[in-house]
Amino acid sequence: MNGLVAPLDRVSREVRTILARALDGSEMSVAEGARLSETEGRDLQALTLVADELRRRQVGDTVTYVVNRNINFTNVCIKHCTFCAFSRDHREEEGYFLPLDEVVRRAQEAWDLGATEVCIQAGLPPKLPGRYYIDICRAIKKVLPEMHLHAFSPEEILYGSVRSALPIREYLGELKAAGLGTLPGTSAEILDDEIRDVISKGRITTRQWIEVITTAHSLGIRTTSTIMYGHIETPLHWVRHMDLLRQIQRDTGGFTEFVPLSLIHQEAPMYRRGLVPGVRPGATGTEVVKMHALARVMLGPSLRNIQASWVKEGPKLAQYLLTCGANDLGGTLINESISTSAGAPYGQLVPPRELRRMICEAGRLPAQRTTTYDLLKVYHEEDEPSPLDKVEDPEATFGSYHRLTASPEFRFRK
Ligand code: SF4
Repeated sequence: MNGLVAPLDRVSREVRTILARALDGSEMSVAEGARLSETEGRDLQALTLVADELRRRQVGDTVTYVVNRNINFTNVCIKHCTFCAFSRDHREEEGYFLPLDEVVRRAQEAWDLGATEVCIQAGLPPKLPGRYYIDICRAIKKVLPEMHLHAFSPEEILYGSVRSALPIREYLGELKAAGLGTLPGTSAEILDDEIRDVISKGRITTRQWIEVITTAHSLGIRTTSTIMYGHIETPLHWVRHMDLLRQIQRDTGGFTEFVPLSLIHQEAPMYRRGLVPGVRPGATGTEVVKMHALARVMLGPSLRNIQASWVKEGPKLAQYLLTCGANDLGGTLINESISTSAGAPYGQLVPPRELRRMICEAGRLPAQRTTTYDLLKVYHEEDEPSPLDKVEDPEATFGSYHRLTASPEFRFRK
């Protein structure tokens, strides 16, 4: 026993005091979070250990995933976010636009393979009819009334609202009436306008992001919450960002989960073309671990679900993050495009059986969930492969971002 206590004794007194308070259920202050965001070595190991214990107390040993499909219906965008390698200007050759019937076909194909959710996000094409997002919801729901529509970032909601001349509340109300289930809480990056002005000038502001999110929550439309890190921000920005999310969650209870998204830098214009001086090449492994542990300790009491993204971190690190505070592995995705276009090498699909294998190997219990974290099936033992598990060549079966940009089939026309 003494042999175990000795390494823990090497954790600094200040960090031990903060972690002990967290274990006793005290809310962590921004100053305490800032101190934890600087941890290294033994202090960082103590942080991850406490995060894992809090995860066990808050959500138990089950690790969840959702069977879903991404549909990024166009890559044409009027904005120029410097971290985005997915978008194309409308004059470029590689712009594509999936017509409504193709969006519905993809949703139907996903449903037939056992998906319960489609996640729809895209660029902001010029002159998009203001009610187009509403039309997408109606078209899918008409054919697939049970499919959950997890769709449209706050940036897209703002665009739809402006293009349709409807106030945000009314626009969201119409989307809900058309079948929208939840919103992705993306386009958050770092919720600090000084950072936003450098990495994504002209993008939705912090105030507007909060307005869309809190209005959605007030209408009963739940959302995820995200952070994008590993570029020019400092750990203090992480802590302030989490504090802001925590305040919103206290007021609305509308967040389903927190998803840390580390920058995929390889093809990001901010890095590849040197558009942002001093930009880092994504988060380090240590930062990724620290982010998830810190999120569990700071957010866990009010925002129970912390997701590890296999898309951003790869399956192996995502699996390890399950011991650092995370309790969810996100979705199967089927057509991952955003990170793939930025240079992520992890493919566009991880089938359900593979997600379950990762979870079991981490010593935890896999469960398929809905978008809003109701458990659909807990796997106490492995099951027969599902139709999605049997797909041998995802790119040939489902298409891919690279095929879409290279093919004339869905070429964007002004
Ligand atoms: S992040 Fe979204 S809004 Fe920004 S350029 Fe890319 S597609 Fe457009």
